[in-house]
Amino acid sequence: MQDEIIARKLKISGIVQGVGFRPYVYKQALLHGLKGEVANTPSGVFIHVEGKARNIDSFCRNLYSDIPRLAYLTDIDQFSDKVLGFQNFSIVSSVCGQNHSALISPDVAVCDECIREMLDPLDRRHGYPFINCTNCGPRYTIMESIPYDRPNTSMKSFIMCKKCQQEYDDPKNRRFHAQPNACSDCGPSVSLYDSSGICIECKDSIGQAALFLLQGKIIAIKGLGGFHLCADASNSEAVTNLRRRKHREEKPFAVMALNIEAIEKFAVVTGQEKELLASYRRPVVLLKKKDHCLISPEVSPGNSCIGAMLPYTPIHYLLLVHGFEALVMTSANISKEPIVIDNNEAFDKLAGIADFFLTHDRDIYLRCDDSVLRHDAGAIRLIRRSRGFSPFPVFLRKELPQVLGCGAELKNTICLTKGSLAFVSQHIGDLDNLAAYDFFQMTIEHMKKILNITPRTLACDLHPDYLSTRYAMEQNDISILQVQHHHAHIVSCMAENNIEGKVIGLAFDGTGLGKDGAIWGGEFLIADENMYSRSGHLSHMPLPGGAAAIREPWRMAISYLYKVFGEEMLDLDIQVIREIEDNRLFFIRNMLIKRINCPETSSMGRFFDAVAAIIGIRYKVNYEGQAAVELEKLADNSVTDCYQYDVTSDVDEIHQILPHAIIHGVIKDIEKKVAASVISAKFHNTVISMSKDLCLVIRKETDINRVALSGGVFQNSYLLNGIIRELVKNSFEVFSHRFVPCNDGGISLGQAVCAASLNS
Ligand code: ZN
Ligand code: ZN
Ligand code: FE
Repeated sequence: MQDEIIARKLKISGIVQGVGFRPYVYKQALLHGLKGEVANTPSGVFIHVEGKARNIDSFCRNLYSDIPRLAYLTDIDQFSDKVLGFQNFSIVSSVCGQNHSALISPDVAVCDECIREMLDPLDRRHGYPFINCTNCGPRYTIMESIPYDRPNTSMKSFIMCKKCQQEYDDPKNRRFHAQPNACSDCGPSVSLYDSSGICIECKDSIGQAALFLLQGKIIAIKGLGGFHLCADASNSEAVTNLRRRKHREEKPFAVMALNIEAIEKFAVVTGQEKELLASYRRPVVLLKKKDHCLISPEVSPGNSCIGAMLPYTPIHYLLLVHGFEALVMTSANISKEPIVIDNNEAFDKLAGIADFFLTHDRDIYLRCDDSVLRHDAGAIRLIRRSRGFSPFPVFLRKELPQVLGCGAELKNTICLTKGSLAFVSQHIGDLDNLAAYDFFQMTIEHMKKILNITPRTLACDLHPDYLSTRYAMEQNDISILQVQHHHAHIVSCMAENNIEGKVIGLAFDGTGLGKDGAIWGGEFLIADENMYSRSGHLSHMPLPGGAAAIREPWRMAISYLYKVFGEEMLDLDIQVIREIEDNRLFFIRNMLIKRINCPETSSMGRFFDAVAAIIGIRYKVNYEGQAAVELEKLADNSVTDCYQYDVTSDVDEIHQILPHAIIHGVIKDIEKKVAASVISAKFHNTVISMSKDLCLVIRKETDINRVALSGGVFQNSYLLNGIIRELVKNSFEVFSHRFVPCNDGGISLGQAVCAASLNS
């Protein structure tokens, strides 16, 4: 029986095309002494194998284990088949037809084997900055349409030379069907230009660019998903110059270093962080900065973290081998516009910033910023989900109709659903300028095309002025669902965790329009994808001057102080009252008294801002969340005390957390000259403790034991860890974000799932 020849058919779904999967199957079949064939079809890869049952079994087991690094199997369906008497195993040419069901691979960092070849003086690709193979190189960003074949990519203008073509055609070659395959004879090339767009003739453009960087110059460098602005990270003058020219005062820059050892010179890197840094996605990983290092403090001023990444294109390697501690690598854009991808656009827009341009002639079709993440509270936490992750889907719990989630205003992404997959786009950015809005629309059209999705419903925010909402409202012949911002946050967390039924949702963020017209953001919701109700929230506070209060946390401090102390606020002997000029102080006080331009807010982000300003840490911010970041950095985590707080219930029995006792406690500590690090810790502990207590109350009322955490405030590591710890201690089942950002980058997913559920 054991030796009887049988046949089996396998249907493999997932990311299995253009990733070296068929050659892998071929190798495995030979290894197991099997005959048959493997083919690409519109609905996935089909394998027919013939051989002894035990060999086929072990072949099937191996298909899961050692697969090519870009392949991702979602399903293997097996059927017994007729023995056809194959004499060998072969890769048969693709069955034509539009391959709509295959998933698309994200862009991938250059692999070790390619690096080895590139550094080998005897290799025909020695020093070639566009070396790639089936395991590495650009994918998503060079795709114009599907299927993923060379004529549908920006490599279409390069005709492969004979040697490259041979590699491409040979199933045993590691460049078999590597669509961007190229060499210096037939592929793209780099060039160096000065700021007036004049080409600098030299033998080694990359080497010359490295020399300029060593001299403190700023260079715009074309990467995978767009241009970076690059400077020597150990040269404070260069970094300061870059800040000045880019009008970016304090927001941290990411850096790139040659290897983990180089990163360890300026940051603490744990085992998990090493893995994340080295993964083929090559994200920016937020690491704890070391105090004494050669990296300029200007890179991430006032921040305990530094964002670092490893090189991911051959060009990066060829630059970094010139002995840099690290290079600042920041997305090249001007005034919040999307990252620049086009050569001419780069000369045009970056002329006042970059001294030189290191560009190339392989076009980028779809821009994609670097992804940013951290390892926190025992898991990966995406902060910006972009290159290396898009357009990899989120796998949903059930099949849903095709829907488009248009996302929020800030950190916008869009999301398309199809079957049980949700495709969250790359980071699009803040939709407050025309260029970003164009990019937003382009991304929608592009993703609809390459994923073959025709949404039947649009989902958008409640806020009528968000450009993403306006976009939705302008579409004809399609149903539209407006989803409340914090409801979308919670459903986004539920979707990525594949949970069903109601949860207690803690949505803590900066801003989101509530259904009562107030600005919410410190919310305790009861929610599932079909409904939500507000079970509790932070007390509503006036937001003096609206958006101005976000930029100037001292206004929020005055708002809280006035609420708690009334006119006596003016007699408080604390820094913020002493330091803010009287005329501005009275101006805000009068606004508060007369309720002029003072929308109501329950925002947790603003609560953190207020406390940061009351302690005197920061009155004005240069980037979103800066005050809270600095408050967290201060917190002494050996402190376990917290402040008193009160909760009341209003007429609708919605719980309200009152700030009075907390603010009193903070002021008393300031008067007692308690260290800011202690006050900060006590404040964090208070938020943790009141969150846990309110969850206990809500559980008693509703019997719901599951808590979902979402909203940008959960980027605060102290808070995230503390709330999870306390909730778990009290036997709650806690769900948090991992691969989808907790900030507004995750809103589109929540919107899409809400709308899709209503329509399913
Ligand atoms: Zn490679
Ligand atoms: Zn070639
Ligand atoms: Fe939000």
